[in-house]
Amino acid sequence: MRSLSIFGATGSVGEQTVDLLRRAGGAEVFRVVALTGGRNIVRLAEMARELRAEVAVSADPSGLAELRERLAGSGVAAAAGPEAIAETADRPADWVMSAIVGAAGLVPGFRALRHGAVLALANKESLVTAGPLLMAEAARHGARILPVDSEHSAIFQALVGEDIGSVERIILTASGGALRDWPLENLAKATVKDALAHPNWAMGQRITIDSASMFNKALEVIETREFFGVSPHQIEVIIHPESLIHSMVGYRDGAIMAHLGAPDMRHSIGYALNWPERSHLPVARLDLAQIATLTFRAPDLARYPALRLARDVMDRRGLAGAAFNAAKEVALDRFLAGQIGFMQMASVVEAVLEATDADLGRENAPMTLEDVLAMDHLARVRAGEAARGRAGAD
Ligand code: NDP
Repeated sequence: MRSLSIFGATGSVGEQTVDLLRRAGGAEVFRVVALTGGRNIVRLAEMARELRAEVAVSADPSGLAELRERLAGSGVAAAAGPEAIAETADRPADWVMSAIVGAAGLVPGFRALRHGAVLALANKESLVTAGPLLMAEAARHGARILPVDSEHSAIFQALVGEDIGSVERIILTASGGALRDWPLENLAKATVKDALAHPNWAMGQRITIDSASMFNKALEVIETREFFGVSPHQIEVIIHPESLIHSMVGYRDGAIMAHLGAPDMRHSIGYALNWPERSHLPVARLDLAQIATLTFRAPDLARYPALRLARDVMDRRGLAGAAFNAAKEVALDRFLAGQIGFMQMASVVEAVLEATDADLGRENAPMTLEDVLAMDHLARVRAGEAARGRAGAD
């Protein structure tokens, strides 16, 4: 029986993973080692009972009593706290979904690689903050990382049977997010509600806002560089409002391989789950005649400063990804709390990159997981200061 664990099971990607497992036969077909969640104890206990998980772990220690109560008599063990989540990753499983949001997903993914698991990686922050370390760890333990981000799954699929050396460019598609058609001068006044109205994808709250600011695409550009090992100049971003082409690979003979499908994360989650085979997936089939037109436009860097900052991060490399991601997370928190404006998120991140310049390390500077976590901490402090300096300012 195939064994698996889901980190971040109660989130958007986690729920869709559980949906696919249920459709494929659930506990009759899979041995579910561990499910982890955060604050949603009710849902975590429900899914752990349904999938007969060996252990359910919440990131929130204050939820442990309730989790135990809800799992009483089920045979599912309960645990809580960040350390318990990290230890859970030491339990061997054939397939591990890394779908915790944010830098909190880094350590569990790392530890899962150590027992040679196939790591289905939704947590893009892992590659952005510690890409070289993560790829080296996978190689050291003979583990396999499979991308779950729809763009990277698309690129991965467009590369099957091809030589990465013949790739000329990788073209990441972007919906442009909820505010893509707003006049530039109005963006400073955009509210959380405005930024959450994503035109195509139903996702978690944080990634939906990151989509509107294109911080999500900025993370994906860096993720592409780290996962596929291509040069920054080979990575392009194009706005494709229909979100039907999930990304493209351009080869040196001029051919472009595009991956098309409905905007449904169960496609890339299912691809990673079934890899290297393909199985039936419950995703809508495209009616191309009805779609009729696919459109594209170049992104405006004044509207999306995050894309410019991603280039900066790739030039610096070293610990710049960790600083970028942490600063972005704090800036997003402050925007969600109404303390800074939509366009101020980028200025907070830029200020942190500048302030941290001397500490970032360079292209080939050696770094450890501890360095990454220390930079994450430092950048959060600096981003907090930068955000305070901007609160209330225009
Ligand atoms: P959600 O916010 O919907 O879910 C996040 C999950 O992580 C939940 O299970 C949450 O628990 C848990 N969690 C939150 N904070 C912590 C913490 N500090 N420690 C441990 N667990 C925690 O996120 P998404 O599913 O949208 O995204 C997950 C990851 O996948 C992100 O890295 C995102 O960028 C990436 N991704 C998401 C896509 C999408 O369509 N949603 C598409 C491509 C990539 P709880 O809810 O119980 O509090």
